[in-house]
Amino acid sequence: MTRRRWIADDWDEATATLKGAQAEHMVRVLRAQVGGQADVVAGGRVFHAEVASISDGGPGGRAEVRFNLVAEVESDPAMPVTLVMSIFKFDHMEWAIEKATELGVATIAPVIARRTEKHLALAAMKRVERWRRIAHEAAQQSRRSDVPVIHDPVKLSERVRATSSSKRIVLAEQERSTTLRGTLAEAIAAAGTEMPDLELAIGPEGGWAPEEEALFDANGWQAVSLGTRILRAETAAIAALAVVSSMLE
Ligand code: SAM
Repeated sequence: MTRRRWIADDWDEATATLKGAQAEHMVRVLRAQVGGQADVVAGGRVFHAEVASISDGGPGGRAEVRFNLVAEVESDPAMPVTLVMSIFKFDHMEWAIEKATELGVATIAPVIARRTEKHLALAAMKRVERWRRIAHEAAQQSRRSDVPVIHDPVKLSERVRATSSSKRIVLAEQERSTTLRGTLAEAIAAAGTEMPDLELAIGPEGGWAPEEEALFDANGWQAVSLGTRILRAETAAIAALAVVSSMLE
């Protein structure tokens, strides 16, 4: 039977602790017992762990579950991929964050593009904590050994102009000749034995504005196509990550 996997809130070399909602769930719903077995992620490493103590925190208190770390087990590092995601309808975006986490993305960088709806741009900063919670839950559910980093939203131009050693790729619905697959094959060949660090930029529902396409080009981003069909932003994000995963892993 596969052991449940938890991502620790605190840890040291020998123990790890769950607090908050995770601990509440273990104590009150799963009725965890001392001696119970689990996989616990602590500092990006995965351990076979045993419940050492359980505290329900008493009335109004906060539950806490402490584990002894028994033995390290093999962990699967995230793909070296940053998804630069233009902010779009929050429910679709949250679905994309969950799927991108399952697919192994390392970082998600929300950006405000020219055609990002104004009210979404204004509300984005208040949503980031929720996006981080969604990524944490999806990482746990997909038994990842780490949680993707989700940056605070910035203007697209700030991200495009930032210096980076990654291979930077913009998913461009107008692009016809260069494919994502072909660009990845070149980047993998150039990287030799290492996996290349990648940044993948996805536009908003309204697509990239002409001046944004020019900015990407002027800053060395490679425009690539996912084919002739126009995909929703969340579909394009997942399709691109699936192509990357199929070539990197
Ligand atoms: N408003 C645009 C149009 O109708 O042409 C569509 C934008 S699409 C909904 C949102 C984003 O998904 C695009 O900016 C692009 O980043 C990505 N995308 C969608 N289809 C794509 C394709 N066939 N190739 C590359 N990127 C695509």
